[in-house]
Amino acid sequence: MSVTGKPPYDDANIFARILRGEIPCKTVAEDAHALAFHDIAPQAPLHVLVIPKGRWVSAADFHAEAPAEAIAGFWRLVTMVARDLGLEESGYRILSNMGADAGQEVPHFHVHIFGGRRLGRMVP
Ligand code: C5P
Repeated sequence: MSVTGKPPYDDANIFARILRGEIPCKTVAEDAHALAFHDIAPQAPLHVLVIPKGRWVSAADFHAEAPAEAIAGFWRLVTMVARDLGLEESGYRILSNMGADAGQEVPHFHVHIFGGRRLGRMVP
């Protein structure tokens, strides 16, 4: 945490590098606000990550500081991707890890979309 309480953003994190085009990804969808791509190590038949185009570490700083249009655009892309992957009828799971106790590996806010099979009951 910085003195202001906002976690510092690391411009070298892997998702920042993907957004800059320095590292390839398998893009699912993209618009002005967000990028969706297949997770490199899928945990379900369909496992997509959605990341906002901005320097946000967690949901807290994203929702506190991003313009409303960017927040709406991000969540719109999440639901559009789930729909376009054919997951609306069968169902799917959205998950986001925040910080050390949740095991967040990449310090750029992201949500996981899991689907394509019956998912186990979620436990902490
Ligand atoms: O929520 P968490 O930070 O733990 O998840 C990071 C995710 O990013 C992992 O599921 C990992 O497989 C994925 N990843 C990726 N492409 C990379 C590096 C990590 O899809 N180049």
